[in-house]
Amino acid sequence: MTTAGKPTTAELRALDAAHHLHPFSDHKDLGARGTRIIERASGVYLWDSEGNRLLDGMAGLWCVNIGYGRTELADAAYRQMLELPYYNSFFQCTHPPAVQLASAIAEQAPAHMNHVFFTGSGSEANDTVVRMVRRYWDLQGQPERKTIIGRINGYHGSTVAGASLGGMAVMHEQGDLPIPGIVHIAQPYWYGEGGDMHEDEFGLWAARQLEEKILQVGTDKVAAFIAEPIQGAGGVIVPPASYWPEIKRIVAKYDILLVVDEVICGFGRTGEWFGSQYYDLQPDLMPIAKGMTSGYLPMGGVIVGDRVASSLIADGGEFFHGYTYSGHPVAAAVGLENLRILRDEHIVDYARNEAAPYLQRKIAALAEHPLVGEVRGAGMLGAFELVSDKASRERFPGKGAAGSLCRDLCISNGLVMRAVGDSMIMSPPLVIQPEEIDELFDKAWRSLNMTAQQLR
Ligand SMILES: *Cc1c(COP(=O)(O)O)cnc(C)c1O
Repeated sequence: MTTAGKPTTAELRALDAAHHLHPFSDHKDLGARGTRIIERASGVYLWDSEGNRLLDGMAGLWCVNIGYGRTELADAAYRQMLELPYYNSFFQCTHPPAVQLASAIAEQAPAHMNHVFFTGSGSEANDTVVRMVRRYWDLQGQPERKTIIGRINGYHGSTVAGASLGGMAVMHEQGDLPIPGIVHIAQPYWYGEGGDMHEDEFGLWAARQLEEKILQVGTDKVAAFIAEPIQGAGGVIVPPASYWPEIKRIVAKYDILLVVDEVICGFGRTGEWFGSQYYDLQPDLMPIAKGMTSGYLPMGGVIVGDRVASSLIADGGEFFHGYTYSGHPVAAAVGLENLRILRDEHIVDYARNEAAPYLQRKIAALAEHPLVGEVRGAGMLGAFELVSDKASRERFPGKGAAGSLCRDLCISNGLVMRAVGDSMIMSPPLVIQPEEIDELFDKAWRSLNMTAQQLR
């Protein structure tokens, strides 16, 4: 940095291209187009370095549940940094923020879940899941139970374990994944893969893939099943109503652990505190992150049900696992303040009773657009899928090109949405107001019309 004062957009872009390797990016493309520099944010809006205001329809990356600019979280971090910026929770120690956050989370979690293991992110939480699931079965005297079943197109993070649990083919191709002992079944993606089946019939079929896989691997070899309540990164895939009840039946029948990845659905995204409450699930483990701190600081964790916790505590001896930043005091203080705001301002109730019903009505109306083949959503999650022919569900050529075009047009119209293939997805801050939802959909409609024009 040679220039005095505030660097210009061009200077920042050049330095970014010269020195910064980005997550999930094609760097040649990134360098050629130049990165968008986000400078500040407030409420549901972002401002870039060229002065454009963008409505953030993604809450950052599914995480800024309480919206941007809450000074209470900054104050909590500042106070905690002065008081105790860091200490570990290894070696017989703890500190007030970690204790208070664990107990506050346990209060909101399903009744049989009373312990929290802290991590630095959602990916780390899923690494902890693999360690904990396997440790649990060792302690039960069934060390041959090691296989974890995940789903194709599920997302559980980007570390070696997270990417292995997930079912993203493009991630598996880069790095010889999955690691041994992790296998995958079909996803409950009715619109894309249901063919001629009725939606509920397909939901049962997809759930029964779990039973088939258990029988194939061996009933005494399967340790756990992991899934997101609603797939997020895979394209906001809401399972048919028949899916989760059938999964519950199968998990109980074969007595395997159920891991419900709440990294997106947790902390109010579905209009309940956890997706497990939305679908009435009884998980043994729930990885969490994202909305846990509303993204203000990085933090994750695993909420541990009594079945696993009591075994680890009573007969586990030392569990040789943990992270330097497990329960980091500043992150925990911010998480605690985030929880307080979610509770005191009744934000989850607001999402369930007001914002989500309105958002879902607006999403449903998009089905009328000539480009939209399917709309889907639940709570504060939504998606619509672009097709070239509604009746046959035929896609546009170019595998995701239509989605990318629509996403770029959204941004030029002042709206951040993401494209997953040709599915346009949204996950706005829970605090979004009705008039801001109107603005979001006005911009989405305008962008869709422009997309249709350009595709013609
Ligand atoms: C984002 C995400 C993760 C990974 O979290 P990171 O904090 O990015 O490591 C895991 N599971 C789900 C469901 C996610 O959406």
